[in-house]
Amino acid sequence: MRFSKLILATNNRHKIAEITALLEGAGVTILTKAGFPDFPEIEETANTLAENALEKSRTIFRKYGIPAVADDTGLEVDCLGGAPGVYSARYAGEGCTFADNNRKLLHELEGVPVERRRARFVTVIAVTYADGEICLEGDVHGYIATEPRGDNGFGYDPVFIYQPLGETFAEMGSETKNAVSHRAVALGKFKDWLFS
Ligand code: IMP
Repeated sequence: MRFSKLILATNNRHKIAEITALLEGAGVTILTKAGFPDFPEIEETANTLAENALEKSRTIFRKYGIPAVADDTGLEVDCLGGAPGVYSARYAGEGCTFADNNRKLLHELEGVPVERRRARFVTVIAVTYADGEICLEGDVHGYIATEPRGDNGFGYDPVFIYQPLGETFAEMGSETKNAVSHRAVALGKFKDWLFS
């Protein structure tokens, strides 16, 4: 194993929960912002998911000297030319809520037939450690629902239909989502790399 301890460079409790669950049993100690009272809030200002993820992992590695793992995720909708993409978090404007983003997305897609509502979630995981850094990508394909469905998850989960099951990520249990999600695919690659 490349290292026995890592720190998650995120303030997002949903991501912490998902990543911790996905790496359970991998034999690596996972540190989070809890226990680091001065844990910084890192702005996402770049134009690519990889640059945003690297900015976060680099900042946390420099600060604490522990191998740092960050992710940045975007929802890319085919008929919107890949939007909201890297701007997914603030699609409906600065300070907007998940519900605002979902409302805007459904509005943009009003009248668009199901076969043209194809989308994918993409996650880029960046790792910064003493010997260098690496980016790994995972994605999952589906399509955008016509209205929000389900109460689980976060973000765009209520409007993203996972094609093989015909359910939104918010309708699926977290275990099912964690087995197939963009983040799971990227983390699977991370796990393989960690043990290679
Ligand atoms: P972030 O910048 O990686 O935190 O994510 C960008 C946007 O995508 C945020 O609005 C998140 O809510 C959303 N997002 C990230 N991961 C997921 C997910 O697993 N499901 C639904 N939305 C997500």
